[in-house]
Amino acid sequence: MAKQGYIREIDKLGRVVIPKQFRKQMNVPEEGGEVVVTCKNGTVSISKLAETCIFCRSRKKLTEFKERPICAQCLAELKGETGEQD
Ligand SMILES: [Zn+2]
Repeated sequence: MAKQGYIREIDKLGRVVIPKQFRKQMNVPEEGGEVVVTCKNGTVSISKLAETCIFCRSRKKLTEFKERPICAQCLAELKGETGEQD
């Protein structure tokens, strides 16, 4: 990598590809993930979105379920539903 970073072409729709190495460092999915894009003093920054519950998007009391973020309330509901037997 050059000292000033990777040089990337902006396509006709204004899109720029985030280098794979950076996506890996940020731990964002290859497809379907979301990032936060900001612009300050002429510099555009791309940040990882704060983790939210995959069901209700809450940021409170997050844990993981099958490697996905889930809040305590949704986890309890999930456990309650899966614990029921007919
Ligand atoms: Zn939730």
